[in-house]
Amino acid sequence: MIKKWKQRLFNSYFLASLLFFSCLFVFFFYAFKFQTYLFPILALAYFVLAVFLYILLMNYRRRETIIFLQSQDYAERINLINNNLKNEILAIDSLHQQILNYNSLKCITERFSRCLSLDETVHAIFKETSNLLGQGGRTCILYLSEAQQGELSIVATKKGQEHKVIKAKKGDIFDSWVMKKLQTLIVEDTKKDFRFDFEKASSLEEVRKIRSLISSPLIIGRRVLGILRVDSYLENSFTLEDLRLLTTISDISAMAIENAYLYERAEELALKDGLTGLYLRRYMLERLSEEISRHLRKKTSVSILIFDIDYFKVYNDKFGHVAGDIVLKTIAKLLRENFSGAGNVISRFGGEEFAVILPNCTKENAFSLADKIRKKIKEEVIFLRKKATYVAVSVGVASCPNDSWLKDELILKADSALYQAKQSGRDRVCTA
Ligand code: GH3
Ligand code: MG
Ligand code: MG
Repeated sequence: MIKKWKQRLFNSYFLASLLFFSCLFVFFFYAFKFQTYLFPILALAYFVLAVFLYILLMNYRRRETIIFLQSQDYAERINLINNNLKNEILAIDSLHQQILNYNSLKCITERFSRCLSLDETVHAIFKETSNLLGQGGRTCILYLSEAQQGELSIVATKKGQEHKVIKAKKGDIFDSWVMKKLQTLIVEDTKKDFRFDFEKASSLEEVRKIRSLISSPLIIGRRVLGILRVDSYLENSFTLEDLRLLTTISDISAMAIENAYLYERAEELALKDGLTGLYLRRYMLERLSEEISRHLRKKTSVSILIFDIDYFKVYNDKFGHVAGDIVLKTIAKLLRENFSGAGNVISRFGGEEFAVILPNCTKENAFSLADKIRKKIKEEVIFLRKKATYVAVSVGVASCPNDSWLKDELILKADSALYQAKQSGRDRVCTA
């Protein structure tokens, strides 16, 4: 288009000049031949022609400049449109990625809501995080904090660098930072980040190279349940979008972990006694039925011991109910320590009564075990306001198949043996 314009301008100026020049030439020829006094007029005409040509040239240059500026303007506009187009394409790509991420998050939420136990939940959190952010040699780590000490401990890892050991099992300087600030963290290059001491950070590299990472705390209310972190041996491996995604996963994960804790607590409350932490009578009876049928099939014996504290009412009256509770807890602790073998079931059978199921244990062995623990309980000093107190127990023992193959009858027999121990003076073990 610019070329066309130039062409047109050039043509019109050329034609005008040519026409004027032809006229002058004819006039010059006429003057030279017939009228010499016309020469001054001729010179004037040449001068007019020169001025005219100069004006034409100026005009031409001015138009050329305008056209040049216009062409620059158009080029700029084209660049702007191209840039806008590129940005639009990037925005569409990012939107597409966000839609994919939101879909993944929807699936994650659904998956987490189906998990009940802590193990199941941890497995699901870890798998989903690894799928979404753990590709390309990245390492994912999930820490949970221990309730009492608040210390971190690794519960799941996916190592990006094979054969490399994760040295900091309780977290490193980056995890300490997250725990202290309770904020998400992105480190683009561990060597250049002024927030962290490179010497300390590089000591990690003896075992595993960490050049960039993203990390997010798992928070419920004011409690920190742990940390979810992804790191890489390459610098600048993560974007802010990655951090945003990790933060959202952490928020959902924190809720899922809290639910798992609540579920485990509810399960524990349904099965265990709040004061002693021992199984409740109902659970013990269920387990006794299972153990009896298992032992009948395998032709081995199972024994049950029922412990009852002697004169506990007197103890309570003398030292108070709180002191009585301390006695119950102490006896529960001693039972746990002495019957810690696999398969043994220790339960609080009633107020001050405890029952222990001993699988693969004959009546004779059960008797000697019961007598051993009876002696230990008798020797245990329970300090109440710096004053030493003691309690004794009576124990009834019954065994399957010796005494009965039926659960209720077996319990009855152990209870009768206990009654016998009480009747014959207490602080002793009697068998059915
Ligand atoms: P015995 O030697 O015949 O077994 O006498 P005892 O006093 O131990 O038996 P009794 O059945 O007369 O009294 C049981 C007492 O156990 C009564 C009750 O106050 C106490 N007890 C039951 N449950 C609890 C508890 O959870 N905490 C406390 N501190 N005491 C309890
Ligand atoms: Mg009793
Ligand atoms: Mg008693």
